[in-house]
Amino acid sequence: MSAAAPFAGGAVALAAAIRRGEESARRVAEVVLEEIAGADDLLHCFNAVTSEEALRAADAVDVAVAAGRDPGPLCGVPVALKDNLCTRGVPTTCSSRILEGWRPPYDATVVSRLRKAGAVIVGKTNLDEFAMGSSTENSANGPTRNPWDTSRVPGGSSGGSAAAVAAGLVPLALGSDTGGSIRQPASLCGVVGLKPTYGLVSRYGLVAFASSLDQIGPFALRVEDAAALLEVIAGHDPADSTSLAGEVPPLAPEVGRSPAGLRVGVVADFLVDASPACADAVRRGADALVAAGAAVEDVAIPELLHGLSAYYLIAPAEASSNLARYDGVRYGLRVDADDVATMNARTRSKGFGAEVKRRIMLGTYVLSAGYYDAYYAQAQRVRTLIMDAFRRAYERFDVLLAPTSPSVAFPIGAKSDPLEMYLSDLFTIPSNLAGHPAVSVPFALGEENLPVGVQVLAPALGEPAMLRVAGALERAAAPDARGPVRPHGAGAGR
Ligand code: GLN
Repeated sequence: MSAAAPFAGGAVALAAAIRRGEESARRVAEVVLEEIAGADDLLHCFNAVTSEEALRAADAVDVAVAAGRDPGPLCGVPVALKDNLCTRGVPTTCSSRILEGWRPPYDATVVSRLRKAGAVIVGKTNLDEFAMGSSTENSANGPTRNPWDTSRVPGGSSGGSAAAVAAGLVPLALGSDTGGSIRQPASLCGVVGLKPTYGLVSRYGLVAFASSLDQIGPFALRVEDAAALLEVIAGHDPADSTSLAGEVPPLAPEVGRSPAGLRVGVVADFLVDASPACADAVRRGADALVAAGAAVEDVAIPELLHGLSAYYLIAPAEASSNLARYDGVRYGLRVDADDVATMNARTRSKGFGAEVKRRIMLGTYVLSAGYYDAYYAQAQRVRTLIMDAFRRAYERFDVLLAPTSPSVAFPIGAKSDPLEMYLSDLFTIPSNLAGHPAVSVPFALGEENLPVGVQVLAPALGEPAMLRVAGALERAAAPDARGPVRPHGAGAGR
C-alpha cells in the first residue's frame, strides 16, 4: 500500500469517508503508524509517536460513527503536532534538552480543538530548538531530512511537520510561524503551509518564542485541507489575551472560488533576491492568475526588505524574556550546584543549544540600558514603517504575490554562518511583523528538481481572498511539484 493510500483524496474526503462508515479510523491510524515506523528512522520527522493514544482516539471515532454520532469535521483524520505545542501528559520538548522529562499538565487550545473535531493525534514533530532556525538542524535530537532529497534540509523551524506531510506519513500537521517557520519548510517540502492572521488562532499552550510574532497554522497537501484545519483551530479563546473576538467566516469554500476581479500585486523587490526558479515560479503564478481573471500588477515595497534586520532585534529581545523561565526549577532539566545562581547557570549552559544561547545574548543586549533606544526601539520604528507600507499597498491590492523562500532546499550542513541561515526568511518575516496572514502553495519544480512554493500575502483577516488566490495557484501548479513523495536521494540510508 502506498503511504498516501487512505488519504489520497485529501483530509476532508477522508473525514467524510470515515463519517459515512466507508473507512475505519482504526485502519487509517494503523496504516499511518506503520508508515511512520517504516520511514522515520531515515527522515526523523517525529520526536515522539503516540501510538497507543492514537489508536484509542481512532477507536472512539469508530464507536461514535457506529452509534450514529458525528465525531466532527476532522473525523478520524491523523494529525501531527510540532513539539512546541503542549499535550497533556505527553512530553513537549521544543527539541531542547532543557525541557527533558517535562510533561505539560494541560493541552494547548489548538490540541483540545483538534480532539473535539475528531482528529487523531499521532505524535510530536521535530523542530529547530525553540523554533529558532530555518532548517531543523538546530534540534537537540538531530536533523529532519527532506523526503525529496534526504541529503537536504526540510526547512524550518517546523521541518518535522512539513516533511511528515510531504512524505505522506500524515495528511495534516500543525506548525508555528514566528518569521516563516510554517511557510518556508512548506515551500522546501512541496506542501501547503499557512500562517494565519495574528490572533486568529489561540497561542495558549504554544511554547512562547517571540510572543508578538508567533502564530500556529496548518500544513496539508492541498489548500482546501489547510483551510479546513484552520477552520477547526481558529476562533476566540479567552485563555489568550491577544486572541481576536468575533466569528471566523467559513474558509474552505473560498478555495474553489474564482479569483476573477481580485487585485494582485507582485512584490517586485523580492524577485531580485530569489533564485531564478523561485522568481520564475512567481511570474508564472502571476500569469495563471491573469488567465483566471485577476488584475495583476508589479508593486514596489522596498520597506519590506528591512524586515529581516528589525526581526533579528525584536524576536531575540522577546525570546530572551520568554526563555528566562527555564531556570532549572520549574521545568525539565536541572544541573545541581551549591547555590541557586550557579544551578541556574549550569542548567542553562547545558540545556540550551548554541543558536538559542546566541538569541538570548543578542536579545539581552538590545534590551539593556544604553542600547535599548539604538536597537530595540529603532527596530520597533522600522516595524511601524513596514506596517504603513503594507497599508498603502493594500489600498491598491487585495493580496500580494511573492516567493516564499529565496532558494530550494539546501544540503544539510551547507549553512554554517548564522546570518546566511537568517536570510532564508527574508520574504516571510514582513507578514509576521505586521501580524498578517500568508500562505505558501507548492507551484513548480526548481533547481535540482526540488519543489518551489509561491507565497500569497494578505492584510489582517484577509484569509478569504488569500485562499481564493491560493486555490487558483494550486489549480495552475505543476502536478509533480507537491507531495506525497517517497523518501529518496543522496542521504538515503545514511
Ligand atoms: N527562521 C526564523 C528564526 O530563526 C523564524 C523561525 C520561526 O518562524 N519560528 O527566527
